[in-house]
Amino acid sequence: MGGNNILEDLIKKLASLPGLGPRSARRIIFHLLKNKKNMLHPILDALTKVEKSIINCLICGNIDLTEKCSICNDIKRNKNLLCIVENVPDLWALERSGTYNGHYHVLGGVLSAIDGINPDQLNIASLENRIKSSNQTEIILAISATLDGQTTAHYLSKLLSKYGNKITRLAHGVPVGGELDYLDDGTITQALKGRIIFE
Ligand SMILES: [Zn+2]
Repeated sequence: MGGNNILEDLIKKLASLPGLGPRSARRIIFHLLKNKKNMLHPILDALTKVEKSIINCLICGNIDLTEKCSICNDIKRNKNLLCIVENVPDLWALERSGTYNGHYHVLGGVLSAIDGINPDQLNIASLENRIKSSNQTEIILAISATLDGQTTAHYLSKLLSKYGNKITRLAHGVPVGGELDYLDDGTITQALKGRIIFE
């Protein structure tokens, strides 16, 4: 493989990441090559560290250094609140807002007929087990206001209603089609504070 082929291969791989395309991937790579010592080497080191040490929490699906993440481990958090999110960036977005003090459950995506995502492919069985075996009083469905997100929220609301918890969803401020990770902290705070009964 010639040098160009190796580079093209890397560009293609980077370009497939969320938020990047071939043009930005190419710019990043040439920037890294130009600054091997200050950029490329530290980034490689950091990536290796992340690859070796970051794992999924066995309880909630968050990522951390331990099998029980720092949120699940925190005895000061409110055990009666369980907030269901699509993915880890959404969990982090809610944490950044600083308004929520309960626990989380990360689904790992949303149901999607088009992408062929069914309940078995999400962390729904573990969610149901968790709710069955503890006594949460409120379950907050903090799921995107997209079509698939809302389908998922309805599915969960129906599935979990038999356990007798109050089921709420985020309120005003989350635009239709909006994904949590892209919202500013103030909007997230408002949406959490004004949450309403899911129906
Ligand atoms: Zn956890």
